[in-house]
Amino acid sequence: MDENFKVLISKEELEARIEELAKQIDEDYKGKELTVICVMRGAVFFTVQLTLRMKTKLKYEFITISSYSGTDTTGEVMLRTDLRDSIEGKDVLVVEDIIDTGRSMSYLLEHLKSKNPRTLKVCTLANKAERREIEVPIDYIGFEVPNKYIVGYGFDIDNNYRNLPYVACLEG
Ligand code: 5GP
Repeated sequence: MDENFKVLISKEELEARIEELAKQIDEDYKGKELTVICVMRGAVFFTVQLTLRMKTKLKYEFITISSYSGTDTTGEVMLRTDLRDSIEGKDVLVVEDIIDTGRSMSYLLEHLKSKNPRTLKVCTLANKAERREIEVPIDYIGFEVPNKYIVGYGFDIDNNYRNLPYVACLEG
């Protein structure tokens, strides 16, 4: 591990909490079919780990937005690639890695609502509530995290460190 990193959430803690979330989501969508929208690229790891533990019948969609460069937010949210199929009339769950200022999710929810899903819910692995600038509804939260820049388990710095099997923060 890079000496400047401190483990914040261990692999075991991640797995245990994701298992709980999967059970809860299965319970909530009993008898329904779900469209899971994975927000690229950070949420790929979480989406896979979560949905492999779920029993609900589901389809995957991927959407790419960008808002960060390096460890600092640019404040500007851009849609890079949109969904492939229609979500009109579908039960939709957006899976995100982290909600920080709320700008990305707010933008994304407006975009997705315009496609007329039947229901639209949000699941995030991490919530950095302290940094919120725009309130967004969150239905499932894995972990509350402090106001520190985190890496690992999908979280990156310039596309590095995503494959660390734990979540760490930069020390200092
Ligand atoms: P928001 O629009 O809520 O401010 O930011 C959401 C996006 O910023 C996340 O999807 C993620 O890509 C990035 N982000 C926010 N905080 C962190 C962090 O602590 N570490 C990393 N790697 N990315 C973050």
